[in-house]
Amino acid sequence: MNSKKKILKGLSLEELQETLTEIGEKKFRASQIFNWMYNKHVTSFEQMSNLSKDFRQKLNDNFSLLTLTNVTVNQSKTTKTQKFLFETYDIRKIESVIIPDGDRITLCLSTQVGCPLDCKFCATGLMGYKRNLSAGEIVDQYILTSLEIPPQKITNIVYMGMGEPLLNYQGTLNSLKIFTDEKSTGLSRQKITVSTAGIPHRIVDLADSGLRVKLALSLHSCFDEIRNQIMPINEKYSLKELKETIRYYSEQTKTRITFEYTMLKGINDRDEDIKAITKLCRSIPSKINIIPFNSIKHMAPDGISAELEPTEMERINQFTDELRKKNVTVMLRDTQGDDIAAACGQLAIKENV
Ligand code: SF4
Repeated sequence: MNSKKKILKGLSLEELQETLTEIGEKKFRASQIFNWMYNKHVTSFEQMSNLSKDFRQKLNDNFSLLTLTNVTVNQSKTTKTQKFLFETYDIRKIESVIIPDGDRITLCLSTQVGCPLDCKFCATGLMGYKRNLSAGEIVDQYILTSLEIPPQKITNIVYMGMGEPLLNYQGTLNSLKIFTDEKSTGLSRQKITVSTAGIPHRIVDLADSGLRVKLALSLHSCFDEIRNQIMPINEKYSLKELKETIRYYSEQTKTRITFEYTMLKGINDRDEDIKAITKLCRSIPSKINIIPFNSIKHMAPDGISAELEPTEMERINQFTDELRKKNVTVMLRDTQGDDIAAACGQLAIKENV
């Protein structure tokens, strides 16, 4: 680590209060620091101008704000998508993506360096797993991208970048507590989505956490035998178990589940897939995002990953129309940032491999 000092970024208001009490400070100081870090997005104690000089010095002597550094921004030439590359204290690289769409500015953030789940259509999966990100590193992606994009402001956050958020449950939970605090981002819970490949016991934990953020399930097939091939985690947690837990999530949080569905030619774009999706969507309050498959050839994959082909656009449109005719709520997602490998499933950094 670049410093032995305790890092304040990533602490909730309660944790900040405890930490300040330990150095003999009053609890109300915590709200001031919370506001400076998560609402005003300062990157140093010196910028906290309503704190006395002596107190700022004391903070500097005891604590650090630093988590991520060396931001580089890559702008797509074909869309407004921007990819941000960050360096962690242990010289790992992680990525976040800003996706503007009309008034909506979505931040897609990462929760792990790499990912252990090895989904066959995903570049991050091909990197393997390095480590979990801390809550501070997750929140810092919001803070540092916010500083880069004015006058635009982030309106939505999706946990859909590198990593499986529910395998970094503590980091994800702590960062969600910060994001959903009305004194930080000002975003409603309905603007924050956690996307998971499906870790049932953690879905239940998140449902019971009271945070009531939205949940997206990376579905990609309604058939275990196909899902086993493209998402090895399915061998551990079957679709039956997942369906029960996402239904529980929807009931507990009174939210609609989003299913993510990447269209893979000849694998999950058949007529029987339309039938199975329709049945699923009728049984759980939900909608489905249809995602054209983005090439991961930049990662030189082998095995089944090398064989995956995108479904043709004509079939995607037909597939989507059929689902709509059956009253399924469908969103057809544009490919955003394909030219800078910032599109869905493309995030990966070779230096980490
Ligand atoms: S799709 Fe998500 S869970 Fe699967 S390997 Fe990629 S980052 Fe991990």
